[in-house]
Order: sequence, then structure tokens, then C-alpha cells
Amino acid sequence: MNILTVDVEDWFHILEVEGTPDLAAWSRLESRVERGFERLLSLLAEAQTSVTWFFLGWIAERHPDLVRRAAEAGHEIACHGYAHQLVYTQTPAEFAADIRRAKTILEDAAGQEVSGYRAPGFSITPETPWAFEEIAAAGFRYDSSVFPGPRGHGGLPGAPLAPYLVETPTGPLAELPVSVVALGPHRLCFFGGGYLRITPYPLIHAMTKLVNLRRRPVVYYVHPRELDPAHPRLEMSALRRFKSYVNLSSTESKLRRLVRDQSLTTMGAWLRTHEDTLRTRSA
Ligand SMILES: [Zn+2]
Repeated sequence: MNILTVDVEDWFHILEVEGTPDLAAWSRLESRVERGFERLLSLLAEAQTSVTWFFLGWIAERHPDLVRRAAEAGHEIACHGYAHQLVYTQTPAEFAADIRRAKTILEDAAGQEVSGYRAPGFSITPETPWAFEEIAAAGFRYDSSVFPGPRGHGGLPGAPLAPYLVETPTGPLAELPVSVVALGPHRLCFFGGGYLRITPYPLIHAMTKLVNLRRRPVVYYVHPRELDPAHPRLEMSALRRFKSYVNLSSTESKLRRLVRDQSLTTMGAWLRTHEDTLRTRSA
């Protein structure tokens, strides 16, 4: 069983590029999140597949109907924080306030408990070991913020590749890292965002089998903007432009093949059947 996740944010929420507007400017920009959301929701309904949606609190505040509809369709609602700030740019207190604010907004909109969290940009790093403690203390039961390898923003290079438990003062927090494949000294991702768009489907399929052979689930991730290829572009360097916008039109067809070829589930459902098997590791 593999896991499909959606990070629900808008086209102007790309991190760390010169053209990314500040929080204060977001409400003046054209919101396009509904377009990609609708395509995803109907694609998943056709495939009768439930997945985990990590909503940004800022989005949920403006579009509580999207949260409610995803919940009513049987999906799991999870939290992507409120203001899409990288963890390592915040103090522990700022981080705690951001995730607690988003959790409350999401639980009000969904009418259900929200037990999963994912940091913007997978930005838990060796410099932010306190993040796990704040996430557990805010009432989350699992986290999916770890990229177990080096990465532009974020990345926890020494982290286990398989799901594990982090001991915190308020109890254990399950960690479901994004999937990477260890090839020699490299840890390569093929399963989300730009990585998924760049990689041809047969290679994604082969790498999925490799991860599953190691008895690990693949955690895939997509964004609504990737199913809305005509969304406006932000100003950024040529390299970032390539990473952010390459092969946008391929995401929908790859997803259709993924949901057809595999049985995919939510993080919560996966954890319910595997929690007993997870090993503990300190933060
Ligand atoms: Zn994000």
C-alpha cells in the first residue's frame, strides 16, 4: 500500500524565490486553488481513492468549503501550517502559534480531528530538532515533514528512510518521511512536485517497486497548481523556473496512471495498520 498526499496551496506559495509575495499581499492575488482542487477531487472520485490533503490554514480560512468537501468525500484532512513559512526561519514559539492556528481552522472546517502535519518545503532540518516536540505538543499524532536527504530548503540527511517514531516529551510522534531511493551516496526522490514531473512514468513505477521491495511505503505528493498548468508564473531564476514549472501538464496523466496501477491510501489509514511496526528514534 502506498500513500498519496496533496499539499493544498495556491500558485503564489512557491518557497524562496524572489517573486514570492508576502503574506500581506496574498489576498490581493487571483486565487486559482479551486481549479486544481476540483480536478484532483474528481480524478480521485473516479478512482474511488481516498488520500491525505495537507491544507494551508490560510487557504482553509478563505475556502472552508474545499476542506468540508474533501472531508465529506471520505478523504483525510491534515495540516500544512497557516502562513507557509519555512520551519527554520521561525522561533519555536512562532512555529507553535502557526501550526496551532491552522489546526483550529481546519478542525472547524472539517468537523473532524486533524492529526497530521507537514511543514512547508519539508523544512525540518538538523537546526530545528524542537519542531517535533512542538508538533506533538500541538496535538498532532503524525508528521510528514522530513526529506531524508540533502535538499535546497530543508532536508534531514541522517533521517531513516522508513516511517519511524520520534520520542517527544508529550509522547511519541510518528514520522512518515517523503520517499527517497538510496543510490550509492545519493538519496533521490521521484515521487512528488518537480521530481514527479521530471521523471518519466515508467521510471516512477520502477522506483516505487524498489521502495516497496525494501518494505517501505511510497509517499507521493502533488499540489493543486500542478493540475492547473495555465496558472500565473512567479519571477525566479532560470533554474528555479525549470524546477517549478517543468512538465506541468504531465502531472494529471501521471496521477491517473498511479491511481489506476496502485492501491493508494491515506497517511492515517496506513498508520492505523502499521503503527506497531515502527521503530523509535530520538529527534
Ligand atoms: Zn507547501
